[in-house]
Amino acid sequence: MTSISQNLHSVEQRIADTARHCGRSPQEITLLAVSKTKPESDIEAAYRAGQRCFGENYVQEGVGKITTLAHLADIDWHFIGPLQSNKSRLVAEHFAWCHTVDRLKLAQRLSDQRPEHLPPLNILIQVNISDESSKSGIQVEELSGLAAAIVQLPQLRLRGIMAIPAPEADFSRQLAVCQRMAKLFHDLAKHYPEVDTLSLGMSDDLDAAITAGSTLVRVGSAIFGARQYSTTSE
Ligand SMILES: *Cc1c(COP(=O)(O)O)cnc(C)c1O
Repeated sequence: MTSISQNLHSVEQRIADTARHCGRSPQEITLLAVSKTKPESDIEAAYRAGQRCFGENYVQEGVGKITTLAHLADIDWHFIGPLQSNKSRLVAEHFAWCHTVDRLKLAQRLSDQRPEHLPPLNILIQVNISDESSKSGIQVEELSGLAAAIVQLPQLRLRGIMAIPAPEADFSRQLAVCQRMAKLFHDLAKHYPEVDTLSLGMSDDLDAAITAGSTLVRVGSAIFGARQYSTTSE
């Protein structure tokens, strides 16, 4: 086994153990492998080990990989980075999901730009649940209004919400934040039957997120190893 497939299996095991520990079925939780900055060969290694959902943060880098790996046709590509409006077209044309919708103008552009031959783009609204220093994500009070507007857009399908909570070492504090997200998610799902996804949990708060009810966890370095950032991004 390659180390990527070993890492993948240990992350899957950790998810399954945590799920069982809190009385959930491991099948309720999707693992999104975050492959930003990693080469296509790493994605192929994870694919050969059975992984099908991959997350990318940078538009150009992600589109390059999607194009090169187009022969792996059953990959679900998720865009999970901050998205400037002027780059929305590439996301609308190439990805299956966008996790970081935080304004109506961006949602309208994604719907307008989604090609008609593709199924609607799956949308998660990013909520700023705990990190006051972060500019990403809407405030909790804005969620119901933005959701009501997004479900009207023809080429989008609202699937749920996503958050990147502020780092917090203490499990009970992590859990409290994750439970606030879970409550928002359940309230939204009551209104909209297609809402089925709570994107919450990274390497450091995976257990708290699963305990609170996350349905999609985003894990990068525990699968692919530490990232080395170059000084330039987009
Ligand atoms: C990079 C990233 C992750 C994965 O982080 P790791 O620490 O590598 O597991 C998850 N979610 C988002 C939004 C990210 O940008």
